[in-house]
Amino acid sequence: AKEQGRNNYQFYNPALNTRTLERVKMENRLRQALERHELVVLYQPQVAMDTGQVTGAEALVYWLHPELGLLSPGHFIPMAEEIGFITDIDEWVLETACAQNKAWQDEGYRSFNVTVNMSSKQFRRPDLVDQVRRVLNATGLPPRFLELEITEGTAMKDIEYTIPSLNTLTGMEVGFAIDDFGTGYSSLSCLKKLPIRKLKIDKSFIFGVNTDPNDKAIVATIIAMAHNLKLEVIAEGVEDADQLEFLHQNHCDQMQGFLYSRPIPAEDFRRLIM
Ligand code: C2E
Ligand code: CA
Ligand code: CA
Ligand code: CA
Repeated sequence: AKEQGRNNYQFYNPALNTRTLERVKMENRLRQALERHELVVLYQPQVAMDTGQVTGAEALVYWLHPELGLLSPGHFIPMAEEIGFITDIDEWVLETACAQNKAWQDEGYRSFNVTVNMSSKQFRRPDLVDQVRRVLNATGLPPRFLELEITEGTAMKDIEYTIPSLNTLTGMEVGFAIDDFGTGYSSLSCLKKLPIRKLKIDKSFIFGVNTDPNDKAIVATIIAMAHNLKLEVIAEGVEDADQLEFLHQNHCDQMQGFLYSRPIPAEDFRRLIM
Protein backbone atom coordinates (compact mmCIF):
# COMPACT_ATOMS: atom_id res chain seq x y z
CA ALA A 1 0.00 0.00 0.00
CA LYS A 2 2.88 2.29 0.86
CA GLU A 3 4.55 1.59 -2.49
CA GLN A 4 1.35 2.33 -4.33
CA GLY A 5 0.93 5.61 -2.48
CA ARG A 6 4.38 6.64 -3.57
CA ASN A 7 3.72 5.78 -7.18
CA ASN A 8 0.48 7.72 -7.16
CA TYR A 9 2.24 10.67 -5.66
CA GLN A 10 4.87 10.59 -8.38
CA PHE A 11 2.27 10.24 -11.06
CA TYR A 12 0.33 13.26 -9.88
CA ASN A 13 3.27 15.48 -9.01
CA PRO A 14 2.77 18.31 -11.50
CA ALA A 15 6.30 19.70 -11.14
CA LEU A 16 7.88 16.33 -11.86
CA ASN A 17 5.51 15.72 -14.75
CA THR A 18 6.32 19.05 -16.34
CA ARG A 19 10.03 18.44 -16.08
CA THR A 20 9.71 14.98 -17.57
CA LEU A 21 7.61 16.22 -20.44
CA GLU A 22 10.03 19.01 -21.20
CA ARG A 23 12.89 16.60 -21.11
CA VAL A 24 11.15 14.22 -23.51
CA LYS A 25 10.30 17.12 -25.81
CA MET A 26 13.92 18.24 -25.80
CA GLU A 27 15.14 14.71 -26.54
CA ASN A 28 12.76 14.40 -29.49
CA ARG A 29 13.81 17.79 -30.83
CA LEU A 30 17.45 16.75 -30.56
CA ARG A 31 16.77 13.55 -32.49
CA GLN A 32 15.28 15.67 -35.29
CA ALA A 33 17.96 18.36 -35.17
CA LEU A 34 20.21 16.70 -37.73
CA GLU A 35 17.60 16.17 -40.44
CA ARG A 36 16.25 19.67 -39.81
CA HIS A 37 19.76 21.06 -40.36
CA GLU A 38 19.81 22.72 -36.95
CA LEU A 39 23.31 21.54 -36.04
CA VAL A 40 26.33 23.62 -37.01
CA VAL A 41 30.05 23.09 -36.61
CA LEU A 42 32.12 25.96 -35.25
CA TYR A 43 35.90 25.95 -35.44
CA GLN A 44 38.31 27.11 -32.75
CA PRO A 45 41.85 27.89 -33.94
CA GLN A 46 44.87 26.04 -32.60
CA VAL A 47 48.04 28.12 -32.71
CA ALA A 48 51.71 27.11 -32.80
CA MET A 49 53.45 28.85 -29.89
CA ASP A 50 56.78 29.39 -31.69
CA THR A 51 55.47 30.89 -34.96
CA GLY A 52 52.05 32.20 -33.94
CA GLN A 53 50.61 30.40 -36.99
CA VAL A 54 47.20 28.76 -36.98
CA THR A 55 48.05 25.07 -37.47
CA GLY A 56 44.66 23.56 -36.87
CA ALA A 57 41.10 23.87 -35.66
CA GLU A 58 38.94 21.99 -33.20
CA ALA A 59 35.48 21.25 -34.57
CA LEU A 60 32.75 21.89 -31.97
CA VAL A 61 29.11 21.12 -32.62
CA TYR A 62 26.46 23.73 -31.76
CA TRP A 63 22.68 23.49 -31.92
CA LEU A 64 20.72 26.31 -33.47
CA HIS A 65 17.56 25.62 -31.50
CA PRO A 66 14.45 27.21 -33.08
CA GLU A 67 13.21 28.59 -29.74
CA LEU A 68 16.23 28.69 -27.46
CA GLY A 69 18.79 30.07 -29.89
CA LEU A 70 22.38 28.89 -30.26
CA LEU A 71 23.15 26.18 -27.69
CA SER A 72 26.77 25.31 -26.94
CA PRO A 73 27.64 21.60 -26.85
CA GLY A 74 27.80 21.56 -23.07
CA HIS A 75 24.01 22.08 -23.11
CA PHE A 76 23.05 19.05 -25.18
CA ILE A 77 26.02 16.67 -25.65
CA PRO A 78 25.38 14.95 -22.27
CA MET A 79 21.74 14.39 -23.32
CA ALA A 80 22.86 13.13 -26.73
CA GLU A 81 25.12 10.63 -24.94
CA GLU A 82 22.28 9.45 -22.70
CA ILE A 83 19.84 8.85 -25.54
CA GLY A 84 22.47 7.24 -27.80
CA PHE A 85 22.16 9.94 -30.45
CA ILE A 86 25.79 10.96 -29.94
CA THR A 87 27.10 8.53 -32.58
CA ASP A 88 24.91 10.17 -35.24
CA ILE A 89 26.23 13.57 -34.18
CA ASP A 90 29.85 12.39 -34.10
CA GLU A 91 29.57 10.87 -37.55
CA TRP A 92 28.03 14.04 -39.00
CA VAL A 93 30.67 16.28 -37.37
CA LEU A 94 33.42 14.01 -38.70
CA GLU A 95 32.06 14.28 -42.25
CA THR A 96 31.45 18.01 -42.02
CA ALA A 97 34.86 18.83 -40.53
CA CYS A 98 36.79 16.63 -42.99
CA ALA A 99 34.93 18.12 -45.96
CA GLN A 100 35.58 21.63 -44.63
CA ASN A 101 39.27 21.00 -44.14
CA LYS A 102 39.54 19.58 -47.66
CA ALA A 103 37.82 22.72 -49.00
CA TRP A 104 40.30 24.97 -47.15
CA GLN A 105 43.21 22.94 -48.45
CA ASP A 106 41.88 23.15 -52.01
CA GLU A 107 41.77 26.91 -51.61
CA GLY A 108 45.47 26.85 -50.83
CA TYR A 109 45.75 26.60 -47.07
CA ARG A 110 47.97 23.55 -46.65
CA SER A 111 49.21 21.44 -43.74
CA PHE A 112 46.26 22.13 -41.60
CA ASN A 113 44.76 19.78 -39.00
CA VAL A 114 41.14 19.46 -38.12
CA THR A 115 40.45 17.98 -34.71
CA VAL A 116 37.21 16.13 -34.05
CA ASN A 117 35.85 15.10 -30.65
CA MET A 118 34.89 11.48 -30.35
CA SER A 119 32.56 10.10 -27.69
CA SER A 120 33.27 6.84 -25.95
CA LYS A 121 30.33 5.22 -27.70
CA GLN A 122 31.55 6.26 -31.15
CA PHE A 123 35.09 5.15 -30.38
CA ARG A 124 33.82 1.71 -29.38
CA ARG A 125 31.88 1.06 -32.58
CA PRO A 126 33.07 -2.14 -34.20
CA ASP A 127 32.94 -0.40 -37.59
CA LEU A 128 34.86 2.72 -36.46
CA VAL A 129 37.84 2.14 -38.75
CA ASP A 130 35.59 1.52 -41.78
CA GLN A 131 33.60 4.62 -41.00
CA VAL A 132 36.65 6.88 -40.71
CA ARG A 133 38.12 5.38 -43.88
CA ARG A 134 34.84 5.93 -45.73
CA VAL A 135 34.67 9.59 -44.65
CA LEU A 136 38.29 10.21 -45.66
CA ASN A 137 37.70 8.61 -49.07
CA ALA A 138 34.44 10.46 -49.62
CA THR A 139 35.89 13.86 -48.72
CA GLY A 140 39.36 13.29 -50.18
CA LEU A 141 41.08 14.64 -47.07
CA PRO A 142 44.53 13.07 -46.58
CA PRO A 143 44.33 11.16 -43.26
CA ARG A 144 47.27 12.96 -41.68
CA PHE A 145 45.19 16.15 -41.56
CA LEU A 146 42.58 14.51 -39.33
CA GLU A 147 43.05 14.32 -35.59
CA LEU A 148 40.64 12.58 -33.23
CA GLU A 149 40.25 13.71 -29.63
CA ILE A 150 39.33 11.15 -27.03
CA THR A 151 39.42 11.46 -23.26
CA GLU A 152 41.63 9.41 -20.98
CA GLY A 153 38.58 7.45 -19.88
CA THR A 154 37.66 6.58 -23.46
CA ALA A 155 41.22 5.55 -24.28
CA MET A 156 41.85 3.45 -21.18
CA LYS A 157 38.54 1.60 -20.88
CA ASP A 158 38.88 -1.92 -22.31
CA ILE A 159 42.23 -0.98 -23.73
CA GLU A 160 42.75 -4.46 -25.21
CA TYR A 161 39.58 -4.02 -27.23
CA THR A 162 40.30 -0.48 -28.45
CA ILE A 163 44.01 -0.74 -29.19
CA PRO A 164 43.55 -2.53 -32.54
CA SER A 165 41.42 0.34 -33.94
CA LEU A 166 43.86 2.87 -32.50
CA ASN A 167 46.73 1.06 -34.20
CA THR A 168 44.93 0.72 -37.54
CA LEU A 169 43.91 4.38 -37.64
CA THR A 170 47.36 5.52 -36.52
CA GLY A 171 48.82 3.28 -39.24
CA MET A 172 46.71 5.24 -41.73
CA GLU A 173 48.31 8.39 -40.24
CA VAL A 174 45.17 9.62 -38.49
CA GLY A 175 46.36 11.40 -35.32
CA PHE A 176 45.05 10.93 -31.79
CA ALA A 177 45.03 13.48 -28.99
CA ILE A 178 44.08 12.84 -25.38
CA ASP A 179 41.51 15.49 -24.39
CA ASP A 180 41.07 16.97 -20.91
CA PHE A 181 44.42 15.48 -19.93
CA GLY A 182 45.04 15.44 -16.20
CA THR A 183 41.40 15.13 -15.15
CA GLY A 184 41.10 11.37 -15.67
CA TYR A 185 42.96 8.57 -14.01
CA SER A 186 45.24 7.23 -16.67
CA SER A 187 48.37 5.57 -15.46
CA LEU A 188 51.52 6.61 -17.21
CA SER A 189 52.30 3.02 -18.15
CA CYS A 190 48.97 2.82 -19.98
CA LEU A 191 49.70 6.07 -21.74
CA LYS A 192 52.95 4.62 -23.02
CA LYS A 193 51.09 1.76 -24.72
CA LEU A 194 48.84 4.07 -26.74
CA PRO A 195 49.87 5.21 -30.22
CA ILE A 196 48.91 8.84 -29.63
CA ARG A 197 50.34 12.05 -31.03
CA LYS A 198 49.29 14.71 -28.59
CA LEU A 199 48.19 15.56 -25.06
CA LYS A 200 45.72 18.35 -24.47
CA ILE A 201 46.04 19.91 -21.03
CA ASP A 202 42.61 20.47 -19.51
CA LYS A 203 41.55 24.09 -19.21
CA SER A 204 40.91 23.79 -15.46
CA PHE A 205 44.70 23.67 -14.93
CA ILE A 206 45.36 26.53 -17.36
CA PHE A 207 42.90 28.82 -15.54
CA GLY A 208 44.95 28.69 -12.33
CA VAL A 209 48.38 28.69 -13.84
CA ASN A 210 49.32 32.14 -12.56
CA THR A 211 47.59 32.01 -9.19
CA ASP A 212 47.70 28.42 -8.01
CA PRO A 213 51.14 26.89 -7.38
CA ASN A 214 49.67 23.41 -7.82
CA ASP A 215 48.31 24.23 -11.29
CA LYS A 216 51.69 25.74 -12.17
CA ALA A 217 53.44 22.52 -11.14
CA ILE A 218 50.90 20.29 -12.89
CA VAL A 219 51.06 22.16 -16.20
CA ALA A 220 54.87 22.36 -16.20
CA THR A 221 55.06 18.65 -15.37
CA ILE A 222 52.60 17.59 -18.09
CA ILE A 223 54.53 19.58 -20.73
CA ALA A 224 57.88 18.09 -19.67
CA MET A 225 56.43 14.58 -19.50
CA ALA A 226 54.81 14.90 -22.93
CA HIS A 227 58.10 15.97 -24.45
CA ASN A 228 59.99 13.15 -22.75
CA LEU A 229 57.48 10.72 -24.25
CA LYS A 230 57.96 12.42 -27.66
CA LEU A 231 54.38 13.68 -27.66
CA GLU A 232 53.11 17.08 -28.72
CA VAL A 233 51.28 19.10 -26.11
CA ILE A 234 48.54 21.73 -26.46
CA ALA A 235 46.96 23.92 -23.79
CA GLU A 236 43.21 24.65 -23.99
CA GLY A 237 41.31 27.46 -22.28
CA VAL A 238 44.04 30.10 -22.64
CA GLU A 239 42.31 33.36 -21.79
CA ASP A 240 45.03 35.88 -20.94
CA ALA A 241 48.55 36.97 -21.77
CA ASP A 242 50.00 35.82 -18.43
CA GLN A 243 48.85 32.26 -19.06
CA LEU A 244 50.34 32.43 -22.55
CA GLU A 245 53.63 33.69 -21.12
CA PHE A 246 53.79 30.80 -18.66
CA LEU A 247 53.18 28.34 -21.51
CA HIS A 248 55.92 29.99 -23.56
CA GLN A 249 58.41 29.70 -20.73
CA ASN A 250 57.57 26.03 -20.35
CA HIS A 251 57.83 25.31 -24.10
CA CYS A 252 54.25 24.24 -24.71
CA ASP A 253 53.83 23.46 -28.44
CA GLN A 254 50.37 24.86 -29.15
CA MET A 255 47.59 26.86 -27.58
CA GLN A 256 43.85 27.20 -28.00
CA GLY A 257 41.56 29.57 -26.17
CA PHE A 258 39.47 32.74 -26.07
CA LEU A 259 42.66 34.85 -25.96
CA TYR A 260 43.21 34.01 -29.62
CA SER A 261 39.65 33.23 -30.69
CA ARG A 262 36.36 31.72 -29.65
CA PRO A 263 34.90 28.94 -31.79
CA ILE A 264 33.76 30.63 -35.03
CA PRO A 265 31.84 29.69 -38.21
CA ALA A 266 33.79 28.26 -41.15
CA GLU A 267 33.40 31.47 -43.24
CA ASP A 268 35.01 33.57 -40.51
CA PHE A 269 37.71 30.97 -40.00
CA ARG A 270 38.57 31.15 -43.67
CA ARG A 271 39.25 34.89 -43.34
CA LEU A 272 41.48 34.16 -40.37
CA ILE A 273 43.76 31.74 -42.23
CA MET A 274 43.77 32.90 -45.87
P1 C2E B 1 36.09 20.11 -24.95
O1 C2E B 1 36.41 19.13 -26.03
O2 C2E B 1 36.95 20.12 -23.75
O3 C2E B 1 36.06 21.52 -25.69
C1 C2E B 1 36.61 22.70 -25.16
C2 C2E B 1 35.55 23.56 -24.54
O4 C2E B 1 36.17 24.69 -23.92
C3 C2E B 1 34.57 24.14 -25.55
O5 C2E B 1 33.33 24.27 -24.89
C4 C2E B 1 35.16 25.52 -25.84
O6 C2E B 1 34.22 26.44 -26.31
C5 C2E B 1 35.66 25.88 -24.47
N1 C2E B 1 36.74 26.84 -24.50
C6 C2E B 1 37.68 27.01 -25.45
N2 C2E B 1 38.52 28.00 -25.15
C7 C2E B 1 38.11 28.48 -23.95
C8 C2E B 1 38.60 29.53 -23.09
O7 C2E B 1 39.59 30.22 -23.36
N3 C2E B 1 37.93 29.73 -21.93
C9 C2E B 1 36.84 29.01 -21.60
N4 C2E B 1 36.23 29.30 -20.44
N5 C2E B 1 36.36 28.01 -22.36
C10 C2E B 1 37.00 27.75 -23.54
P2 C2E B 1 32.03 23.78 -25.58
O8 C2E B 1 32.04 24.30 -27.00
O9 C2E B 1 30.88 24.17 -24.69
O10 C2E B 1 32.16 22.22 -25.63
C11 C2E B 1 31.90 21.42 -24.50
C12 C2E B 1 32.23 19.98 -24.75
O11 C2E B 1 31.30 19.38 -25.65
C13 C2E B 1 33.58 19.77 -25.42
O12 C2E B 1 34.58 19.91 -24.48
C14 C2E B 1 33.42 18.36 -25.95
O13 C2E B 1 33.74 17.41 -24.95
C15 C2E B 1 31.94 18.27 -26.26
N6 C2E B 1 31.76 18.32 -27.73
C16 C2E B 1 31.73 19.38 -28.54
N7 C2E B 1 31.53 19.00 -29.82
C17 C2E B 1 31.43 17.64 -29.83
C18 C2E B 1 31.24 16.63 -30.85
O14 C2E B 1 31.12 16.90 -32.05
N8 C2E B 1 31.19 15.32 -30.43
C19 C2E B 1 31.34 14.99 -29.12
N9 C2E B 1 31.30 13.69 -28.81
N10 C2E B 1 31.54 15.89 -28.15
C20 C2E B 1 31.58 17.21 -28.49
CA1 CA C 1 37.98 18.53 -27.23
CA1 CA D 1 39.11 19.59 -23.53
CA1 CA E 1 35.78 18.52 -21.91
